[in-house]
Amino acid sequence: MTSHGVFVIFASIVVMASSLVTRRNPAPGDYVSHATHAEEIAADRHDLGIQKGNVLVKVYTNVEAEYAQAKGIAQEVIAKCNKRIADFESYTKTSKAKKFSEGASPKDFYGNLLKDVDALVKEIPKGLADAAAFREEVNAVKTDGQMKGSEMERFKAPGNALQDHAMLTLKDVQNMLEKDMVWDEDINELHEPALEKLHQQALGALALSGYEEKRAEAKGDKTEASNEKAQEQKADHALEDIVDKIKSAGKESMTESEGDFEDLQEVLSEGDTAEMVSADAAAENNALVTANDLARAHGGKRGEDEGTNGKVETDSGDVGPASAARGAAALQMLGTKLNATMSGDSIALQYTKWAGAKVPYCFAPDVSEHVKHIMLAAMNQYTNAVPCLDFIDVGWKNGSSTDPAGKQNCKESPAIFVQSNPNQGCWSYIGHIPVDHYAHYGWGSQALQMQDPGCVSIGTAAHELGHALGMAHEQSRPDRDDKLKIYWDNVQPGNEHNFKIDPAGYTAIKYDILSVMHYDGFAFAKDPKKPTMEFRSHPGDDVGQRVGLSAHDVMQVEAMYSSESSSCKSNALADLGCLDKPDDSGNDICKDITECNAKATDHCCACKGGVTVQCYEGQPCPKVDLLPPPPPMNCIEDKTYLFTGYPYPCIYTNVCDFDVVYECPGLPCSHSVRSKSYEAASCNGNWQTTVCSATATCTMRKA
Ligand SMILES: [Zn+2]
Repeated sequence: MTSHGVFVIFASIVVMASSLVTRRNPAPGDYVSHATHAEEIAADRHDLGIQKGNVLVKVYTNVEAEYAQAKGIAQEVIAKCNKRIADFESYTKTSKAKKFSEGASPKDFYGNLLKDVDALVKEIPKGLADAAAFREEVNAVKTDGQMKGSEMERFKAPGNALQDHAMLTLKDVQNMLEKDMVWDEDINELHEPALEKLHQQALGALALSGYEEKRAEAKGDKTEASNEKAQEQKADHALEDIVDKIKSAGKESMTESEGDFEDLQEVLSEGDTAEMVSADAAAENNALVTANDLARAHGGKRGEDEGTNGKVETDSGDVGPASAARGAAALQMLGTKLNATMSGDSIALQYTKWAGAKVPYCFAPDVSEHVKHIMLAAMNQYTNAVPCLDFIDVGWKNGSSTDPAGKQNCKESPAIFVQSNPNQGCWSYIGHIPVDHYAHYGWGSQALQMQDPGCVSIGTAAHELGHALGMAHEQSRPDRDDKLKIYWDNVQPGNEHNFKIDPAGYTAIKYDILSVMHYDGFAFAKDPKKPTMEFRSHPGDDVGQRVGLSAHDVMQVEAMYSSESSSCKSNALADLGCLDKPDDSGNDICKDITECNAKATDHCCACKGGVTVQCYEGQPCPKVDLLPPPPPMNCIEDKTYLFTGYPYPCIYTNVCDFDVVYECPGLPCSHSVRSKSYEAASCNGNWQTTVCSATATCTMRKA
């Protein structure tokens, strides 16, 4: 019963008693009963006083408890504000700190919150003292039992007010605990470790050779099947080595991976396999090996586009026998001429395209089987994409890889003389050098240099062949600054010209970040650990892949050679197929899956994982039926183990083909993770580590 109800009963008894007195004259017996009644009333008053007192004591006990609770929460808010202010102060000392306008900084925000809590906290002892005084008074009243109804009102109103105040204080501090300001969310997009790309390439090579073996068996081609079986074993062996290396301490290191890399290149260039590896497919596979990765596999030697002794020669762009070993500068100067032609200006023409799209070539006799294999695979990639191109081995006549240009001859002239000088890296002239130059310098051929080791990758071969066909570097286009940030302060002094823009560059086709003709992000770097260029939109993406042709490269070759041959149409590169990716032990884990769990999401075509392969029109393209998409919870994987020497406690990737947003308990930021990217994230100066250590406690959704 409420104290109010008790009070109503008590009041009506008082009214009844007074009416007895006024209505009639009392008889003597009445006095006796009156006195008895008065005693009863007094007893009632006493009981009610005790009851009311008990209720009020309870109220004040609650008030005390509420103030105590408010005090506890206030202490939490204070600790949180102080931590946030300390975090913010260390954050402002970092280079990435944002600037805040006055009054809008997290320090102000938490400072003001602190002031408010302080003011509230000061009210708590006052409220508690009031509550204690009231309780004592109520106790006294309760003991002597003399409290009348009207007296109780005296306690009721301030008692309720006191309780209300305690409740408000509690609510306020609770609200403050809820308040939080996200002043900074920092996403560090990381380059995929080179060894992991190699790992993905090995898994791809294994899947591809397995697929080719089955195809050969189906055709009844026993020789081809056993050949592919041998390739599969080679890939399997390389995979084993690479997985061991990833498990070892030097995870990021590519040291001593050269042999495995070359084996993989061999597997990927075998038979029909090379056609299935395009830049677009490799991008899907997280296997975009760059020129920089190749340099690391080759002990840091940057073979590509470097002249004698690794020094890039600068040149006016004229091509003479004295500077047979061209450097990037010369290539780029010549590239300028190419672009001038493509934009319709042929005045300064210093090269020609290969007439009729026929490209005669021969190998110097000292060129290794490795290099031959890779060159043929790259040529296959071109002719598969643009069938009018005809690379014709016209046979070697005389000269070795180290002979001067005038002494190097194929059986026909003009022709490309593929050489492997052990000290010249990899380079090529741009396009077919005009015949009058041949005549002037007494040349029968023009060299294309492929050092072994150092240049033995299909991508490098495709890059140099691209030059020989007439293509310049992608990053010399006039629109490149929209896409790229060049770090001039990290460019080796004297090599700035390699980053020059060609104002007449061809821009009809969209800028191609996947072009095999793009420099890598670390080209000509003073500090080889820092990039010389990065993509503006996605600084973590790799620049300058050397896996194979991109769809845009193919379009450019088609555009160049359609004037040479009316039948020059590219094959549609549009379709991408998929092969299930084996696990690290080479086992098929996708055979019987019925749902897309985390592993299947990475490995199986049915879950949009697996190895993506390039398909051409009219050729078989491996496909499977898709299972329902994986829940976003299966997309984020802890990959910290792949990285050493990074200052991040948790590095993760999104293996799904869609972007994922996640939020973890404890930190107020929600982070968006791009498909296939590697990231480390912080929120208000604290690292997101829960996403690695307790992934299941985070919430995740499709972006
Ligand atoms: Zn180049």
